[in-house]
Amino acid sequence: MTHSVDRRGFLKRLAGGAAAASLGALAAPARSSAASSASEPSSAIESQRLTETLWLYRGDGGNVLAARDSEGLALVDGGLPERSAALLARIRAETGAERIHTLFDTHWHPCQTGSNEPIGNAGATIIAHENTRLWLCYANPVPLEHRSYGPLPAQARPNKTFFYGAEQVTVGDEPVEYGYLLQAHTDGDMYVHFKKSNVLAAGGVVSGAGWPIIDVHTGGWIVGMANGLQTLIGVADAGTRIIPAHGPVLTQADLVEQHRMYSIIAFRLQRAIRKGLGPDEVVALDPTAEFNAKWGDPKAFVKMAFESLWGHFAPDAS
Ligand SMILES: [Zn+2]
Repeated sequence: MTHSVDRRGFLKRLAGGAAAASLGALAAPARSSAASSASEPSSAIESQRLTETLWLYRGDGGNVLAARDSEGLALVDGGLPERSAALLARIRAETGAERIHTLFDTHWHPCQTGSNEPIGNAGATIIAHENTRLWLCYANPVPLEHRSYGPLPAQARPNKTFFYGAEQVTVGDEPVEYGYLLQAHTDGDMYVHFKKSNVLAAGGVVSGAGWPIIDVHTGGWIVGMANGLQTLIGVADAGTRIIPAHGPVLTQADLVEQHRMYSIIAFRLQRAIRKGLGPDEVVALDPTAEFNAKWGDPKAFVKMAFESLWGHFAPDAS
């Protein structure tokens, strides 16, 4: 999911471009799409070596983690489909490994599953939460974009799924735990923790590039985002390097800050829903006021977060 790109496009439509310009420091340059202008360049893929065996790849298509072992490579997420070929060539050249034997999909969005087809066609194990596999069997609306994504061909879908709790595999001599984050950014979010390196790929539940997307149509909601962050805070420790879906490497302290922020905002939105307010009225209340300087224009986020509560609240019986 192109969170930053989508937000930019959405805000352009909301505010005639002024809001989008303010996101320049937060958002990577937009790729070619209906939501971006032709004048915006496509960003280069940047790589960062985290350990002897782990590399982080960043660009406008979402963060990708590559882990090398004697059998080849395990990737966490695969970037956008249109950037997959360049990304995989870059990873193979830099890591010196050719075969990708394992791919983890932290959730179904295009920024995470864009390399599923070439990697799946080559026979890799694709690990994901069962809900992610199910979404990839259908055409789903991409949040804040006027398009759908999927279904992926059978070979490109996850072929090793789980439903509850956490499971573990080994990559080289590194134990790798992956676990479910319940309904949060979508309803199929998982983390992937490289325990020896203490690097935690957190997927879309953690934001490193401005206000996040909450994918209401596939089960995301703001209280779930806060709960997912709580789980991740427990998986991490003070020395863990945390990889969000987009943006730079974060720490456990950043997760604590984000958890607090979402909890405060969720409380305000719940109060607003009990008062019977509508989305535009809630946006006008500016329930994110003290966070906007750091996180950017909140309008699209507030609307999504508010809408995300609708399916979780019964009418007040009092
Ligand atoms: Zn996403």
